[in-house]
Amino acid sequence: MGILDWLSQSAKKLKDVESKIADETKDVYEVYQRNIVLEKEIAQRTEELRLANQTLLTLEQVWDMMNSSRPLSSVLETIVSSLYGEFGYIYSFIAQKQYDEKGPCYILKTYLENDFSSKMSDLTDENIYDFKLYPKENGIIENAVKNKEVSYYISLKEFIQDNIPNINEEAFKKYTENNNVKTIIIFPISVKDQFSGFLSVFSPRKELKGDELSFLNLFTRQIELAITIANLFETVKKQAVTDHLTNLFNRRFFEDALHREATRSLRTKQPFCLIGLDLDHLKKINDTYGHSMGDKAIITIANVITKNARSVDIPSRFGGEEFFIILPGIDTKGGIAAAERIRTSIESAKIEGLENGITASLGVASFIEQTTNIDELFEMCDKAMYSSKQKGRNQVTLADTDNITSWQDIAIDAFVDILTQHRIPFNKKVASDLIEKLQLKQNDSSGTSTQEMLYSIVDSISKSYFPLYQEGSTKNKVTLATLIAKRMNLSKAEIDKLKIAMLLYDIGNTMMPKELLKKPAPLNQKEKDEIKKHPIVGAQEILKPISSVSNIIPIIEHHHENWDGTGYPSNKKGEEIPTTSQIILITDSYFAMISYRPYRKAYTIDEAIEEIKQNVNKKYSKELVEAFIYSIEEFKKM
Ligand code: GH3
Ligand code: MG
Repeated sequence: MGILDWLSQSAKKLKDVESKIADETKDVYEVYQRNIVLEKEIAQRTEELRLANQTLLTLEQVWDMMNSSRPLSSVLETIVSSLYGEFGYIYSFIAQKQYDEKGPCYILKTYLENDFSSKMSDLTDENIYDFKLYPKENGIIENAVKNKEVSYYISLKEFIQDNIPNINEEAFKKYTENNNVKTIIIFPISVKDQFSGFLSVFSPRKELKGDELSFLNLFTRQIELAITIANLFETVKKQAVTDHLTNLFNRRFFEDALHREATRSLRTKQPFCLIGLDLDHLKKINDTYGHSMGDKAIITIANVITKNARSVDIPSRFGGEEFFIILPGIDTKGGIAAAERIRTSIESAKIEGLENGITASLGVASFIEQTTNIDELFEMCDKAMYSSKQKGRNQVTLADTDNITSWQDIAIDAFVDILTQHRIPFNKKVASDLIEKLQLKQNDSSGTSTQEMLYSIVDSISKSYFPLYQEGSTKNKVTLATLIAKRMNLSKAEIDKLKIAMLLYDIGNTMMPKELLKKPAPLNQKEKDEIKKHPIVGAQEILKPISSVSNIIPIIEHHHENWDGTGYPSNKKGEEIPTTSQIILITDSYFAMISYRPYRKAYTIDEAIEEIKQNVNKKYSKELVEAFIYSIEEFKKM
């Protein structure tokens, strides 16, 4: 091979290599490019999958909820409340378009704790369940719903001005100045022939987060789906939950509804009323005119009840001639008025062939105001109805709370149990004396100074482990705690629980090492940790076996939790802590401060109050400290 040939071959080879390298570089580059695209695609698919999963999950939940025969409102509430966590919204609600005498309006379909509805009912002085939005003509809401377009308000003020006419000006100003709402987004909801309205979210942000809008759109579709499914189920469900003679709800539905309303009522702190009604002398009507006339009388009653009921009321036929009506959001006074209206309508109803007409006896009991236990509520209502019968029929009676076990009786039971079962270490002889005293009192009908006796028992138990305990301070503590609770508008039922808890909250100390409680110096960390067990010991070890105080246990367990979450034993914070527990904490701290300790002198009242003020938003809520300061003044006057 000549040199030229070799050269040209080499050049060719070189070219080949070069082009190969170029090719490979291209390949590598392409692979690299492809990888980027693939990665992007994978990310996209993963996100789609996540959304799909979420959709499936929500779908599954919606389906489950439907199958559990929950009414639409409760399904919607569950859906809406799951929104809060996802994007940290301040409020969110669903509203449905209706027309009333004033024109188009929106009624709320969801009532959640601390939600817009309760704020607005405060500002309009209206019952939360009667609250409606009246949209401005051609305003943002009306246009959003009409054009099925997502729309925005950029200020809460504008939203309120546009949609809520009867607002209290002063409260409005105060409220709109103190809130973090930056954007209100309106998502129209539309289900053909069945529902027109919107979902609104009140966001603390001006801008939407990346996938926020698509997520909310998806959410709105879920809501539409839930409404569609609910309507499908409605027809089938109606047959299962109504009574065929009267078309009112049947007993099973009523019982479920009572549970549901109670849960909701405790959550929203809104009362509800239960009216019980029994037709008078039905047997006589049956015997004189025949069974079909009896049926007619029952149907007449059902019609009167239906006519008088608001859309949120739950009227039911409980049994033969016995009816119950649940009135959400209605207090005792409103309940009596409603019952009275029903009574007079029945009295004046005409029934063909029955010249004397019919009458009914009614009972009224109110949840939260009178009790927070539904069995008790039902029993009270039933007793009230019976009492209307005894007093001569054709009348309304309000339930009598005295007929139910008093807090003193529950407390006496608890102490008898603690002492007889030796649940705490206590001198046997003294214990048996106390038991005797307690049991005598239980059978004593005069009822005088039962409280005084309870206070003195707590005093002597406390002194047995804590020599510095001041005689008479139990009474002072209960008195002050009760004043605070009243100032904070707690219900009678809650206050009763608080009173019992005030007698028992430190019972766990009886199990603590004596030398710690008697130590004349401040405790070191290890000793403090030991003492910190007392709420749990009191609640779990001593009181748990006593069923009559089971509802007091959480109050006691959390009486050392701080508002900011730095307390013990569970680091609960804010609203997670029972209000009653917070009242115990502040009362206990106050009395501890104004008492002498070997290692410090007693605070003056003013010093103690100052110290408590320093702890606003730390140990205590602002509302609690305000109630405390007010109550201390009252307490001083006593
Ligand atoms: P009171 O004023 O004390 O309530 O007297 P009453 O006769 O209404 O009450 P009682 O409990 O003595 O009798 C109830 C009667 O109601 C007995 C029962 O046969 C009748 N009853 C129960 N369900 C129906 C029904 O669906 N139709 C008819 N016609 N009668 C019924
Ligand atoms: Mg009857």
